[in-house]
Amino acid sequence: MTLSKRLDFFAESKTLKMAKLSRELSAQGIDIINLTLGEPDFATPIHVINAAKKAMDDGFTKYPPVAGYLDLKQAICQKFKTDNSLEYTPDEIVVSTGAKQSIMNVILSVVNPGDEVIIPTPYWVSYSEMVKFAEGIPVLVDATVEQNYKVSANQIEAAITSKTKLFMFSSPCNPSGSIWNKEELAVLADVLKKYPQIFILSDEIYEHINFIGRHESIAQFDFLKERVIIVNGVSKGFAMTGWRLGYIGASKEVAQACEKIQGQFTSGANSIAQRAALAALTSDLKPTYKMQVAYQRRRDLVVNLSKEIKGFNCNTPEGAFYLFPDVRYYFGKSDGASKINNAEDLCMYLLDTAHVSLVSGDAFGTDTCIRISFATADEKLVEAFARMKKALDKLK
Ligand code: PMP
Ligand code: GLU
Repeated sequence: MTLSKRLDFFAESKTLKMAKLSRELSAQGIDIINLTLGEPDFATPIHVINAAKKAMDDGFTKYPPVAGYLDLKQAICQKFKTDNSLEYTPDEIVVSTGAKQSIMNVILSVVNPGDEVIIPTPYWVSYSEMVKFAEGIPVLVDATVEQNYKVSANQIEAAITSKTKLFMFSSPCNPSGSIWNKEELAVLADVLKKYPQIFILSDEIYEHINFIGRHESIAQFDFLKERVIIVNGVSKGFAMTGWRLGYIGASKEVAQACEKIQGQFTSGANSIAQRAALAALTSDLKPTYKMQVAYQRRRDLVVNLSKEIKGFNCNTPEGAFYLFPDVRYYFGKSDGASKINNAEDLCMYLLDTAHVSLVSGDAFGTDTCIRISFATADEKLVEAFARMKKALDKLK
């Protein structure tokens, strides 16, 4: 008996793999500080939880419409209007089981086998693997820490070929925390304008975790909007990772394609989570801003703590909740027992020696870095950096 060849096309999620390993070690009684997952440590706001309870009492226990309840789609249109000055109609919205499924729906909707998908690197862990799953070809365009991990529009244009079908990126970026400002997006939009066959997937899931100002979307350029698919969701901004609720705003054509796909995959997102998301999106954003303030304080904290660590070469994250230091300084060094050859070795060394779990940068296409999630309590971050410094000081 053999399993499908499809399983060989793509790799397991390394973020989830490291989180699992970390949980297993904790279950054995080891005091692990888990900085792997990008998961808010805050509880879902209470009014959202109450809305979910009420939804069950009110009988929202049947199959929902495949693309989402109409009132939720209307609330998402209103959100796009209020937050992003963008006009969408409900038939241009598809609600899914997490932004992760939204992204997979979009890729399956637009990418044919052999099509190229341009992905600025570092990128979020699942992008390249989802493209491979769809038998597309990820074309990775590298940005360095010196570039604040942002590729230039020229680099992107140089990667475009007649086979390019999709350009996908996140801003604020997981894992680098970099944000494309309006001027940079305008330059990028002008390049993409010349290539009408290219769709643009703009992953804006960290919209509300922005430390530099107003969120800017590439969909604001009218000449491009028809080709842009905005992905967003409630996981990050509303501390709702476990509810599994994401959505897209796109052209009617792409929305219909995504609805068709998920009509065969899931029959639509969980009814109770949809009612909870409606409460999250229609109430004021005070809880979200409160969390954002905490993330910004933690950003400042980890940026300062990282200055104490000689071999961490970091940018200052402008959004999201990750620090992504270049750690090449340690390659070739040893504590006498283990030698560090790459970022993966360094992560395993820090897990074994400091009991701090992180994700190696190769999960995000940049194998000279490690990713540190700072979506955790300040005291834990201070303790984690103290442990890491002690362990790293032993590497000679
Ligand atoms: N995009 C990015 C950039 C992410 O970091 C994540 C991880 N949460 C997702 C999409 C998927 O989010 P969700 O939990 O809504 O599936
Ligand atoms: N997006 C989170 C992260 O990057 C969750 C993990 C995942 O979905 O892969 O850590």
